[in-house]
Amino acid sequence: VDIPLFSGLPGDVDVSFEFFPPKSEKMEAQLWDAVQELKPLSPSFVSVTYGAGGSTRERTHSTVARIIAEAQIPAAAHLTCVGASKDEIREVAEQYWAAGVRHIVALRGDAGEPGAPFTPHPDGYESAAALVAGLKDIADFEISVAAYPETHPDADCPQADLDNLKRKLDAGATRAITQFFFSPDKFFAFRDRLASAGIAAPVVPGILPVTNVAQARKFAGACGAEIPAWMDGLFDGLDEKPDARKLVAATVAAELCRRLYAGGVRDLHFYTLNRSELAYAICHMLGKRPLGERS
Ligand code: FAD
Repeated sequence: VDIPLFSGLPGDVDVSFEFFPPKSEKMEAQLWDAVQELKPLSPSFVSVTYGAGGSTRERTHSTVARIIAEAQIPAAAHLTCVGASKDEIREVAEQYWAAGVRHIVALRGDAGEPGAPFTPHPDGYESAAALVAGLKDIADFEISVAAYPETHPDADCPQADLDNLKRKLDAGATRAITQFFFSPDKFFAFRDRLASAGIAAPVVPGILPVTNVAQARKFAGACGAEIPAWMDGLFDGLDEKPDARKLVAATVAAELCRRLYAGGVRDLHFYTLNRSELAYAICHMLGKRPLGERS
């Protein structure tokens, strides 16, 4: 599809937003501002991450429960296998169900150090696929899982990673959300491979608006995402110019989203880092408007 430059996009995209559980009152206020700002865009859901080793167990729970109760947005809780027995996972999942949480993003998680091999808890789940099956056994949650357009670093090969995604979907997940990426072509190639493997479930691109390349590069190394060299060039000289970096971040992410849109993508998941402005601006450029306003 040939689309005009930033005009005429009808906003026919479904968006979701990811947050992390705040650590302080100040961060809590920032998160809440972001939730209130993004709510008018009618997200299909929002999600709240789970810290390494279950360190945010209580905070993830209270954040998700508050979003559901006070903002009345469907909210998903991320849950990992790290450091928890199957009984502990059951307890957490049952608490979610009791609090009205019906959607879980089920993940394996990582061992402490980036790149360190994952060692399951002796009585725990060894992979996200096993966790999905376990959760489905506990209650009829809607379950989303992770997907990797550039292949997860632990996978033997791209095909093995795809087989793993298929196992997660076969175990009861109904959607995958991708790790962030910056090349639309890599996403489209991944989508073609999913189709060849007979995977029909929605695989939603995860969009990370990058304002700090050095930080993004650190994170990307551990999760199999490539930060293209042109990104360094774009941010070169902007270390002391945070406002300019934000504008560049929004432009780069909006361009990625526009290309994805042109390639037929109609669902986008934004890694917000608990700030609304970049995600809001990008959605706006895609024609997304608050409910009731014309685009
Ligand atoms: P899995 O699907 O279990 O896969 C892990 C690796 O093992 C893959 O390489 C897979 O191919 C391989 N594998 C699995 N089973 C087999 C098998 N039987 N044989 C061979 N290979 C196998 N982390 C957090 O700690 N908290 C979060 O909230 C969080 N949220 C995330 C949200 C999204 C959208 C994404 C994309 C990632 C998130 N992560 C989070 C990171 C995630 O925990 C890591 O990427 C982790 O390394 C892998 O998790 P997974 O669920 O993809 O694992």
